[in-house]
Amino acid sequence: MTSPVYDVVIIGGGIVGAACAAECASEGLRVAIVEAKMIGGGATAAGMGHLTVMDDSEAQFALTRYSQLLWEGLRHELPREVEYDACGTIWVAADDDEMREVERKQRFYSERGVAVEVLDAQSLKEAEPNLRDGLVGGLRVAGDSVIYPPCAAQFLVDRARARGAQVFVGQPVREIAADGVRLRDGSFISAGLIVNAAGSWSPELTAGIDVKKRKGHLVITDRYPQFLRHQLVELGYLKSAHTLTAESVAFNIQPRQTGQLLIGSSRQFEVDDATVDVSIVHRMLSRAMEFLPGLGKLSSLRAWTGFRAATPDKLPLIGPDVEHHRLYLATGHEGLGITTSLGTAKLLVDQIMDRKPAIPAAPYLPARVTRDLAHV
Ligand SMILES: Cc1cc2nc3c(=O)[nH]c(=O)nc-3n(C[C@H](O)[C@H](O)[C@H](O)COP(=O)(O)OP(=O)(O)OC[C@H]3O[C@@H](n4cnc5c(N)ncnc54)[C@H](O)[C@@H]3O)c2cc1C
Repeated sequence: MTSPVYDVVIIGGGIVGAACAAECASEGLRVAIVEAKMIGGGATAAGMGHLTVMDDSEAQFALTRYSQLLWEGLRHELPREVEYDACGTIWVAADDDEMREVERKQRFYSERGVAVEVLDAQSLKEAEPNLRDGLVGGLRVAGDSVIYPPCAAQFLVDRARARGAQVFVGQPVREIAADGVRLRDGSFISAGLIVNAAGSWSPELTAGIDVKKRKGHLVITDRYPQFLRHQLVELGYLKSAHTLTAESVAFNIQPRQTGQLLIGSSRQFEVDDATVDVSIVHRMLSRAMEFLPGLGKLSSLRAWTGFRAATPDKLPLIGPDVEHHRLYLATGHEGLGITTSLGTAKLLVDQIMDRKPAIPAAPYLPARVTRDLAHV
């Protein structure tokens, strides 16, 4: 019997695979990362790059908060092209119901040590003068930030490579075997452990895992550097982001360091076609203009789509596969994979090294969801 060439082979060079590769390599493991196309070119290139703490569940909060602090710790090492911007988020309340949600969120975050500030109508207007009149208030989360995800993925892969990882780009994995991965060109990479970090493609390699594509659209404008200061998200976003079946659109906008404005976003289930749907873009922009009427005077440059990898309980799958004893999953990050990539990598490596993680790993273990063999 020959010994494996690598300790770990990671499938997928998106932000999650890249973070896992960097973390494994930091532990002194012999790492290979295999990417079918280009580093950071999947959902990572399509995403907004909002690093945000979220409170949909305790487990979601724990992973987003842990990851956000890891990003904060890394910020001074990030190269300029990663465009780390500590702009903060304002959750915008359009009516009294949404203001009650502001108060609930304020309590939730404050009790868990996250600095937040409730804004009334006037302080909201002072914080973001281009918002329309008549909004009720908002919640500022100063610790949220923004990055440019494809460059962040490249930075993490470079870091892994500097620590000895081998990077195979343009090499699709055809199948996961007992002791490594078979590439489409027939060659074999032998490894002690395999990590499936192929995002929304992960079920093609690990049949039966309940990860489904959720399509999203984004639009980017020309440069308007003074227009916006914070990432703005409507509180109605929560209603749409949590609908598992419907097609939904909600106001979400981000100032980029280039001066551009990135406008989101939509969610569609069971749509495989990556084509930009003009009617969805129209709905998204109309919704955004309801909050920022001045947007109507600005020029947009480009619209695109991407696929989030969604699980039924909206938490990622991080940990050992239930059937293949040398396979780990790091997938299913839906709309939070840029944020949670660093926490995912830490949780994964702690499990590989058999160490106690900084946050409980149980909520994200693949074993929590029954394998749907109907997919196979
Ligand atoms: C519109 C939109 C907005 C978003 N906004 C945010 C946001 O603001 N904040 C946030 O935190 N998250 C956001 N997300 C989510 C985030 O983009 C994803 O969760 C994250 O990029 C997932 O990273 P990943 O590495 O798992 O997947 P991907 O980036 O998709 O990477 C998977 C990689 O695997 C490769 N691959 C696939 N099959 C194979 C194979 N057989 N062999 C080898 N390689 C393979 C692919 O080529 C790809 O590069 C957004 C997503 C979308 C779509």
